[in-house]
Amino acid sequence: MQILKGIAVSPGIAIGTVALLGDNHRRLPRRIVPEAAVADEQARLNEAIALSIAELSSVHARAKQEMGDEAAKIFLFHAGMLRDKSLITPMHRMIESERVGAEFAVGQVLGQLADKFRAAPDSAFTTKVNDIDDLATRLLNHLLGRAENRLAKLPAGTILLARDLTPSQAASFDRSKVIGFATDLGGRTGHTAIVARALGIPAVVGCRTLTGAASDGAPIILDGDRGIIILNPDQERLEEYQGLIKQRETFQLSLGELRDLPSVTSDGEKIELVGNIEFADEASHVLELGGEGVGLYRTEFLYLTGKAEPSEEDHYRSYLRCVEIMKGKPLTIRTMDLGADKYTQERAELPERNPFLGCRSIRYCLKNQPMFKRQLRALLRASAKGPIKIMFPLITSTGEFRQAKYLVNDVMEDLDEEGIKFDRNLKVGMMVEVPSVAIMADTFAREVDFFSIGTNDLTQYTLAVDRTNEAIASMYNPAHPAVIRLIRDVARAARRHDTPVSCCGEAAGDPEYALLLVGLGLRTLSVSAGSIPQLKRLIRSVSLKQCEQIARQALSFDSETQVSSYLRDRARKIVPELFDGRTGE
Ligand code: PEP
Ligand code: MG
Repeated sequence: MQILKGIAVSPGIAIGTVALLGDNHRRLPRRIVPEAAVADEQARLNEAIALSIAELSSVHARAKQEMGDEAAKIFLFHAGMLRDKSLITPMHRMIESERVGAEFAVGQVLGQLADKFRAAPDSAFTTKVNDIDDLATRLLNHLLGRAENRLAKLPAGTILLARDLTPSQAASFDRSKVIGFATDLGGRTGHTAIVARALGIPAVVGCRTLTGAASDGAPIILDGDRGIIILNPDQERLEEYQGLIKQRETFQLSLGELRDLPSVTSDGEKIELVGNIEFADEASHVLELGGEGVGLYRTEFLYLTGKAEPSEEDHYRSYLRCVEIMKGKPLTIRTMDLGADKYTQERAELPERNPFLGCRSIRYCLKNQPMFKRQLRALLRASAKGPIKIMFPLITSTGEFRQAKYLVNDVMEDLDEEGIKFDRNLKVGMMVEVPSVAIMADTFAREVDFFSIGTNDLTQYTLAVDRTNEAIASMYNPAHPAVIRLIRDVARAARRHDTPVSCCGEAAGDPEYALLLVGLGLRTLSVSAGSIPQLKRLIRSVSLKQCEQIARQALSFDSETQVSSYLRDRARKIVPELFDGRTGE
């Protein structure tokens, strides 16, 4: 039995069987082939090389268009490496002399070369390691089939382990088969974690050495409440966790009774609880769990789950579906927020040096106006069928907001000319997720119809801590005094200008933090559907006065550790039942 600790990102407990989604070419099995099959293996290797070179040349052509000659050169360099005899001949020799499968030879030869570069004292050589890893992955994708193929064939009761997963891989899981997943990399507010919560799949990320320790097919317990993985559990552990699963089921049932009760504090203040969704159908889950609307629909998942860019009709169908489910309840749809850790398979080929500070989100939309306008047209058309609000992500300056709003008006004019109906009074708002905007909230509040504070990015950009990096996960804390002061200022500016403001970051779904947000003046919290019942219980157990007192006290501290431990302490006193059984965290 081996116990590993990671970051708990999606609650729930799963007991199942390990499926290792290997991208680690150093650990490929040494497959011995009969002498007669040596030539076949060499032919497989040649074919994989030829396919990779062809792929690299089309990636290069696309990259040249999007990023320019200089940046695209890297792909020519990769193709050149694959034509280099000094790299390829040793692979052929190894297949012949050791009678191993082509994938093992690729893993060994490129692995040894990477190790050599890694050990070089000059950092110019160490950057080559990434190039070699890229090449190995490309070749192995052709030899072994892409990870997606493996994903399509998993047996029921699978707990998937991988070094890392993309949000789109997580979104494509067959939930009747995958009952949990864990990764070596990743942080709490990375989008893979967000997808896990949306799908209700227990998950732990940032386990660092997990995939090295686990073996395919072995029994495993995944504890998404405490961030614990137990490999090859003994009988005692299995029984303990089976008991915890039963306990959880009973607690969920008791939360179910809250569904139709109003979300008001004990002194009568209404706190609106709405849901964050990634897929149109999730909207019904939000309503089933007692949500009063959708506060954030992350439409980029339309791009992440398909191979091609969605058409106007694809967009329209999804928005219409949501409108129909909501039946007049509030629905805020965010325009696409691609980039950073959310890449389509296509765009993943064009890496940026600093993707979180790169051409992501609204910046990408403003540069690709035909694509952006397709989405805006679909949104406006759907607004004729029911209330929709449009929200722009990652706004950093007034110019950006104005340009995006201008495009909305432009599309409205087009629709008018074509005689197509839309809601002329549709509200257009923006996310507050960058410090520049929080600091200038007064200015923005005069122009926008509403704000939604995104604590995931606001924390990352205020503290300069990558939200997906497990190595600095302990530094990522939305309870940092700088972050909570920014939220206070945004709430104040919004109140002064009568601009509605909500919070839709992951922190809003955390009962400890929700108390603070209400105390800071927030009256709408948008959270993943699964968090709604427990938040409602919290809201109904606390008074606005208590929340305001908590916020005052929290603002008086000068370190995030003080704020965090104070919030934890207060929440546990107010609603101890939400924390029962979680004391070991
Ligand atoms: C946020 O940044 O807080 C947010 C809600 O947006 P996303 O998590 O999609 O970046
Ligand atoms: Mg964000």
